[in-house]
Amino acid sequence: MKGDGYMAELLLSGGTLIDGTGAGPRANTAVLVAGDRIVAVGAEAETAAAASHATVVDVSGLSVMPGLIDAHVHVTLGEPSSNDELFYRREPAAAAFVAAHSARRILQAGVTSFLDVDGLYDIGPALRDAIACGAVEGPTMKSGTYALMTAVGGTAGRFIPDSGRAGYAEVVRDKDEMISVVRRQVKDGSDVIKVHVTGSIPNRPGEIQVWTREEMKVVCDTAHDLGVTVGAHCRGDAATLDSILAGADIIWHASYMGEAALEAMVDRKVAVCPVFTFLANLDEYGAKAGATSSVRDVFRNEMEQTGAMLRRAYDAGVPLLCGSESGFSITPYGHWHAREMAVFVEHLGLTPLQAITCCTSTNAIALGEQGEVGTIEPGRRADILVLEGDPSLDVSILGDKSRFRHLLCRGRQVDLTPVPDRTPLPSEKAAAWSAVSLTWELAHS
Ligand SMILES: [Zn+2]
Repeated sequence: MKGDGYMAELLLSGGTLIDGTGAGPRANTAVLVAGDRIVAVGAEAETAAAASHATVVDVSGLSVMPGLIDAHVHVTLGEPSSNDELFYRREPAAAAFVAAHSARRILQAGVTSFLDVDGLYDIGPALRDAIACGAVEGPTMKSGTYALMTAVGGTAGRFIPDSGRAGYAEVVRDKDEMISVVRRQVKDGSDVIKVHVTGSIPNRPGEIQVWTREEMKVVCDTAHDLGVTVGAHCRGDAATLDSILAGADIIWHASYMGEAALEAMVDRKVAVCPVFTFLANLDEYGAKAGATSSVRDVFRNEMEQTGAMLRRAYDAGVPLLCGSESGFSITPYGHWHAREMAVFVEHLGLTPLQAITCCTSTNAIALGEQGEVGTIEPGRRADILVLEGDPSLDVSILGDKSRFRHLLCRGRQVDLTPVPDRTPLPSEKAAAWSAVSLTWELAHS
């Protein structure tokens, strides 16, 4: 091995290959890597490796597959457990250091690239570039910056100001501002523009649509003219339809999608990423994390209704993406990046192999890197996960890091010794004056 961590040439020999194309597992199929590329697969790889005296790693008895791709991460949020914490307890410099630590945890979970959909300050593009230049260890990133919102807000009620920025939100008040903010975000390094097409308002159930189709079209046209894609957060049927007709490239959530929205999605083959993991974690493990039951019922209902529509979209050829919503206390970094695949198997009836394809080659769409990552084929970037067990029989094993034996990211061997957990920074958690209200009765009881 050379000093910079690259093998000149590395042959993974004797493993069972799941190549990410949707093809079934192929026993005893070698993979040859040179620098940051996969250069040959199968018998060709063995022949080439013998001629070039490549370093051979015996992976017989193990599965070899593409590194996972996570299409929906918030790497800069730092796992807040409330909007108070997220909006008022995050300082730019500290949040950037924490994000670098989080990126390593994501990598060690077998994720070799991810899309950071929106986040705090302009940390996302900066972290992406720091990883790309080798200053920080982490998966390959694509990144957005602030999520665009109208002054009605997003998923944080009255935390959203009437103008300007707060937390991960940037308010755009009219069409002129929509154009100028998209242009500035592109200048600031955004690969994607995120729009909160629906938002939650105090005293109103669920989320309501807070953008018009016309306004969405202004954002989409401006972004597309600058070569940048648009992802639309839609918890509501009409919002999904309007976003698709306005030209959105990815629909996040697509909750309660109806017939007209489904038809438009199928027509245009617009990618959809339900990001069920957050809901599934609340539903299945919420009690362990102390979540409230009313929220759990809402989310379970959403998964059941939306899952049926998404299955129809998938069957009609709509790209179905896997995203984890990692970045919150219910979805901490490095733990749940493979969970969406298991949810697709359980709630949408996909086979494990189909779910793996969603999380690898199909997810390359979220990065704008189709043909570059997500499959194990000659010419692709050398992002490779080697693990014990057969994920084509049970995808849930991909959540168990103790099974990982080797991980290559951009051809580089990743040290799988777990990154130590961190404790909260002094500035990060709101300190409470008391756990309960000190009433006269309590004082005298
Ligand atoms: Zn999100």
